[in-house]
Amino acid sequence: MTGNKRDPHQPDAEAPIPAPRPVTDSGRFKGSSFPPVEGIVQGHLEKLAMDWFTASFTPAELRQIPHNIALHTIRLLRDELFHDLKSLSIAPTHYCYEHEMSRARAKSGNWGHPLEGGQWCIEPKVPPPPADPDDRPSDE
Ligand SMILES: [Zn+2]
Repeated sequence: MTGNKRDPHQPDAEAPIPAPRPVTDSGRFKGSSFPPVEGIVQGHLEKLAMDWFTASFTPAELRQIPHNIALHTIRLLRDELFHDLKSLSIAPTHYCYEHEMSRARAKSGNWGHPLEGGQWCIEPKVPPPPADPDDRPSDE
C-alpha cells in the first residue's frame, strides 16, 4: 500500500497540534516550592516506592515496562508516600480516619467523637472472625 501521498498545499487535518509550552520567565507567577526533605527520608521513601512498584508486577511484566515509564511511576509513588503518608503524623489509637479526628472513651467503654446535631461518631466494634470454614485460610 502506498496511500501516503499528500497535497503539500492542503492543511493536514491529522497533524498533531503542538501542546503549549510552559512559561518559565514570568515574574508574576510563582508556583509552590519544593518541600524540604532530609536525604535519609527521601532515600527511605524511594526504597518504599521501589518495593511497592516491583511488588505490583510479575518479573515478566516488569521486563516489559520501559525504563522512563518505570522511573516516572516510582517518582509518583515516592511523592505520594511523602505527601499522603510521611507528612501525616501517626494518629492516636481509636482515631477516626473517616473524619480525621481523635476519639475519646466514654463511660460506656465506647470510643467516639462528637458530630453536628448532638450525635456521636462511635468506633465500630471489630467483627468476629468468619465461622464459615471456607473463609478460613487454607492450611495445606
Ligand atoms: Zn468519625
